[in-house]
Amino acid sequence: MSTTSVADSTTTWPAAQSGAPKPGCCRFCGTPFRHTMVDLGMSPLCESFVPAEKVNAMEAFYPLHAWVCERCFLVQLEEYVSGEEIFTDYAYFSSFSDSWLDHCRRYTDQMIAQLGLTAKSHVVEVASNDGYLLQYFVKRGIPCLGIEPAANVAKFAEEKGVPTLVKFFGRQTARELVAAGKRADLILGNNVLAQVPDLNDFVAGLRILLGPAGVITIEFPHLHQTVVGNQFDQVYHEHFSYFSLYSAERIFAAHGLTLFDVEELPTHGGSIRIFGRHTEDESKPLTERLLALRARESAAGVDTLAYYSDFEEKVRETKRKLLEFLIKAKRAGKKVVGYGAPGKGNTLLNYCGIRTDFLDFTVDRNHHKHGKFTPGTHIPILHPDKLQEARPDYVLILPWNLKTEIMGQLAYIREWGGRFVVPIPEVTVYP
Ligand SMILES: [Zn+2]
Repeated sequence: MSTTSVADSTTTWPAAQSGAPKPGCCRFCGTPFRHTMVDLGMSPLCESFVPAEKVNAMEAFYPLHAWVCERCFLVQLEEYVSGEEIFTDYAYFSSFSDSWLDHCRRYTDQMIAQLGLTAKSHVVEVASNDGYLLQYFVKRGIPCLGIEPAANVAKFAEEKGVPTLVKFFGRQTARELVAAGKRADLILGNNVLAQVPDLNDFVAGLRILLGPAGVITIEFPHLHQTVVGNQFDQVYHEHFSYFSLYSAERIFAAHGLTLFDVEELPTHGGSIRIFGRHTEDESKPLTERLLALRARESAAGVDTLAYYSDFEEKVRETKRKLLEFLIKAKRAGKKVVGYGAPGKGNTLLNYCGIRTDFLDFTVDRNHHKHGKFTPGTHIPILHPDKLQEARPDYVLILPWNLKTEIMGQLAYIREWGGRFVVPIPEVTVYP
């Protein structure tokens, strides 16, 4: 096992410095796509919920086809729809899950202690959403700035007292902030890296904005968990890229950043939080747990095409099993409804062809979605109170990564004999 940084290796990535990604090629290293990981067919954008007045209008569907790059092993979709189109009027609000907010509070405490952050420090979050996380830094008196391209979401951050710049992040924005004297001691990004179309511009921007001794933390769903856990519904148009530690290390190294630590987290079905620093900043040695995860990925074969090649058949089998369950339930006269309307749910519903023939409706705590319909499949999204009225026999939990929290909140469905169904990694009924 190598204990050196991948930045020291002799591999070079010239495409990383040569402008925006080219269609049909890896957005990091420029190698043409030749290997499919999974083809989920045509699907609408998973956050494009349909308002009642548009329910009879035409909807745009795009290919949902994940490729694996044979050179850097980044898994990715082509950018069929521009990031501007997706993210400038986005319905995703981070503050609607209690367990996610707990996670953010713990992170804030941990980082303030670990980095010794004070009222003189500067924390920047990229894709700060509705201020769900930076609000905890504000409460602790640490100066911070959120960067968020969706103005409708950023407005809620400002209301929480989180200063927010409505912009996309990349080299340009980073240079403007540095010119204004705003280099960061901590830059964080949660579930944003996957959503960046021009990955090289984004990571280069992180290096520009990071103070000489600063730390970057980025969280994303771990590709290894996606593969092992059969989590194909993590694939959607808003997620352009899917990272292993292996590919992330190479991408950061190509921009003068070294990953020195990694934490494995239970969020989003298994995420990792990577810790980056300037490659020259040798005050932070590579940790044991980083070396251990590198070794585990290597043993699993993440740097071989074989690792990716049987995913698609597993996904198809998952679809067959879920449909088998639903057909049997409907034949037996059961009432089935959904819980949640997350992005991942829309991949699952569209790929499996589940509409109101199987699910009468779904409910969501996010009131911005009430009265709308799921994209493509047009399942009505209602207030959670509707469950009490409808008394369904089965509740299909679409955000299965939050199943424990949700089954706790909805324990009352057992009063009428209702049961929970979780679709991933394979259909499971909880009594
Ligand atoms: Zn590549």
